[in-house]
Amino acid sequence: MNVENNRVVSIEFTLTDGEGKSLDATEPGKPLDYLHGARNLLPGLEQALTGREIGDSISVTISPEEGFGVVNPDLIQTVPAEAFQGVDNIEPGMAFEAKGPGGEVEHVIVEAVDGDQVRINANHPLAGVTLNFDVKVVAIREADESEISHGHVH
Ligand code: ZN
Repeated sequence: MNVENNRVVSIEFTLTDGEGKSLDATEPGKPLDYLHGARNLLPGLEQALTGREIGDSISVTISPEEGFGVVNPDLIQTVPAEAFQGVDNIEPGMAFEAKGPGGEVEHVIVEAVDGDQVRINANHPLAGVTLNFDVKVVAIREADESEISHGHVH
């Protein structure tokens, strides 16, 4: 059986960045199940898996443009600490949710604190990062109708 649309594919993967730093991986014996053709994965990764068989291993490099986007400098801002009401200690690495210009929820990370000035970054954490996936196909099955209509694995 090949990897095709409307099939549930189980993969083991490791994800590293352009410098070889580990970003994510499946645990041994706990593959990720996804519905192929439903955009559950990044398009470049899904495309590379199309037609593969159980046991196949592939390496896929996805540029920031095809992945989570390039870093948008407009999304890095310095704001006064008083913008964080109810937070006593603002420290680098803290994550907050904020309302974006269109009312959408943005996830912002505190990058630096300098006195009462806080630099925040609302880019996706993987923006600007080259993604190297090493993927092994471990199982494939036909999706059932409810999975296909929902667009995800049950
Ligand atoms: Zn569902």
